[in-house]
Formats: sequence, C-alpha cells, structure tokens
Amino acid sequence: MIGQDLLGIEDLERSKIELILETAVHMQEVGSREVKKIPTLRGRTVINLFFESSTRTKASFEIAGKRLSADVVNFSPSSSSLTKAESILDTAKTLDAMDPDCVVVRHKVAGVPQRIAEVLEAPVINAGDGAHEHPTQALLDMLTVSQAKGRIDGLTVAIIGDIAHSRVARSNIYGFSKLGAEVRVAGPPPMIPPAIEQLGVKAYTSLREVLEGADVIMALRIQNERLSGAYFPSVREYSATFGLNRAKLRWANEDAIVMHPGPVNRGVELDHELTDERPSVILDQVRNGVALRMALLYLISGRAPAAVED
Ligand code: ASP
Repeated sequence: MIGQDLLGIEDLERSKIELILETAVHMQEVGSREVKKIPTLRGRTVINLFFESSTRTKASFEIAGKRLSADVVNFSPSSSSLTKAESILDTAKTLDAMDPDCVVVRHKVAGVPQRIAEVLEAPVINAGDGAHEHPTQALLDMLTVSQAKGRIDGLTVAIIGDIAHSRVARSNIYGFSKLGAEVRVAGPPPMIPPAIEQLGVKAYTSLREVLEGADVIMALRIQNERLSGAYFPSVREYSATFGLNRAKLRWANEDAIVMHPGPVNRGVELDHELTDERPSVILDQVRNGVALRMALLYLISGRAPAAVED
C-alpha cells in the first residue's frame, strides 16, 4: 500500500482490510511496551490537516506517527492563511511542497479528501469527510470486533441512530459486509436513507427487532451539525425509542458487545452505565485506534516490511 491513498472502505479490497488489521495487531504490542516507540518511520513526515473538530482521530494519528518516530505536524486552520482567504487546495499544495510522506485530511464537506488527493504528491488518508466516509474509524471498529468476538464472519452487527448523516455508519456497512457480517440498521425513519437496502442492509424502525439476534451493537450520535430541521419529535422521545440501557440490551444476544465511535451524548443514545461498563468496548475502540493508525501510516509511508520488527 506504499504511496497509496486511503479515501474510503467502499473501494478497499477485503485482502487489504485484512492486511491492515493484521498489521495493527503487531502495532498493539508496541503500545504495551514501556518505551512505546519504534524507529520505523524515522525521517518521515506526517501532516494532520483537520478542517473539522476532532478529539480521538486527530490525537491518535499524532500519537501513532510519534510511536513510529515520524515527525508529525498538526496544521491548525484558525491560525493559517486560510484566514487570509487562501483556498483549501492552495493550502494543501503549499504543505505538499514541503514533501510530507502522508497527509491526513478531515473536512465537513464530502469529497474534499479525494479532491486534495488528486492534486497532491503525498498519499492522503481520509480522516472523515462530511456524511460520506470515515475509513479509519471503520477499520478500528473491525479490529475491535474481531478481537472481542474472535471473528467477524457470520456475526450480526446492528447500527442504531442517525444512519443518514453518519460517515461511520457508511464505512462500517461496507467494511463489516465485506468481512462476512450481516449488517442491520435502525433509527427514526427520516434518518434511514431510502436506498440503504441496496447496500445489502436490512432496515428496522423497532429497537427490539433490530437487537434480536445481534452480536454487536453500535450506537451513533445524532449528527446535529449536519441536520437542517427536525428528524424526531424530541431528544427525550429519541432516547426512549432508540436509546440503549441494560434492560433493552437483554433483547440482543447474551454476549453482545456495545460500541460507539464517540463523542457519546450520555443519556441520549447510551445511558451512563452502558457508556462506562462492559459490555461496552468504547475505550477499546479508542485504544485500538492508535494501533490501527500506526498500521496505516506504516503501510502507506513505510519502507521494507521487515522494518516493523525493529
Ligand atoms: N467521531 C465520529 C466522526 O467524526 C463520530 C461522531 O462525530 O459522531 O464521524
């Protein structure tokens, strides 16, 4: 994958997904060492180009790059020449002229990472574009599920909430389906895209029905920043109908796990208990995000495969 862009899961072959997940398992070991650093990307430069807010993705790309000994530069839009009306593409080209080995891009508009990738020499990783894709989140979710359940093939994954505006839902639908899971979705009807079943996904409007037989439950945040108008009567009603708590969890398989990409609106999509305690694997997702992004930076910007053993 050296020099290749990672723009989405839709066009990523199953064999590449498996390679990334296997490489991430090696990277997890580095994170458990006393000195969490290997020289694999020494002399390489990674630029974090985040035009939209981020806690988990941005911090974990930075930590991932540093654990591989890359030089990581965090670009900050508010203190850049974007405030002097320099365009996004000119900004990206300017940074590209400094010869980075990888540029990580997040933007609120779908398609911006792809447009930037078209004009940049350096490979681009999409760190979330509008409601389109969030491939690194889906990959870390697949890593988390494969380790928590021992497999992905044959599992039933229920994704609940604002499916229409969620890039996490879209990338996970592609990813889990490619790896052989059955993916189902549920949420208020206006938040379920009419064409969703064309992706091989079954849509439900009842929480009880979507949970019956589910091995993995993924709750999503309402994407308020992407909504215009009302999609459900009130937050209280949303939480009563689609919010999860221990009582409702009994509708799912006994050993089901609970996931959330974060940030969680406590008491809306998940209650406090399910946010903090097993079977929630939310903090495993965060931890795995570092190893997964180390794997990607290594595969995209690294050199010989043996270097990971250093
Ligand atoms: N952090 C995820 C994203 O950037 C999920 C969310 O914000 O709801 O898409």
